[in-house]
Amino acid sequence: STQAKARRIAVLGTRAVGKSSLVIQFCENHFVDSYYPTIENTFTKTVKYRGLEYKVEIMDTAGQDEYSILSSHHASSMNGYVLVYSISSKSSFDMIKIIRDKILDFTGLESVPCVIVGNKSDLNIQRQVSVVEGESLATQWKCPFVETSAKHDENVSKIFDLLIDSIEKANNPPPEE
Ligand code: GDP
Repeated sequence: STQAKARRIAVLGTRAVGKSSLVIQFCENHFVDSYYPTIENTFTKTVKYRGLEYKVEIMDTAGQDEYSILSSHHASSMNGYVLVYSISSKSSFDMIKIIRDKILDFTGLESVPCVIVGNKSDLNIQRQVSVVEGESLATQWKCPFVETSAKHDENVSKIFDLLIDSIEKANNPPPEE
């Protein structure tokens, strides 16, 4: 069919790591310097991936702490997850581990399609999480990893390319050896 396939994605992470900035940069192509932090919003963008059109629904979540950051409606009915930390915050890096555990608890799955995003790569001078730490976690979770800057529009669209790729691979696993 010529209809775009719908895919639902949740963007999760500690407050102020840049979730809204990434989503707005991706969907609306501009950087917002201050955005009301407690609004939960869904954005839609049609993207082309391997010649197919995908209507991507992106839920920009607004949890305030480790208890409210992932509600059951985020965990269910999502096709994939963007797990965002800031390279300038070690605690935000630790938080994505907690969030992933919660997703696995909620879904009862052993793994879910996700992409690890180290945002604010332009703040290299304040770096608290090394590239190697991000890469090692991605190796452990068998998922892609990318450092981004919503501010400078670096690697932002790559997040969604990587995630759609992971979602499609999970939907169509290669035959076992
Ligand atoms: P959220 O709470 O995770 O949605 O975070 P926001 O998108 O509201 O961003 C929090 C703050 O970080 C805001 O002041 C943004 O302007 C800033 N910010 C977001 N992305 C970047 C980035 O890539 N680089 C820098 N330097 N600041 C950013």
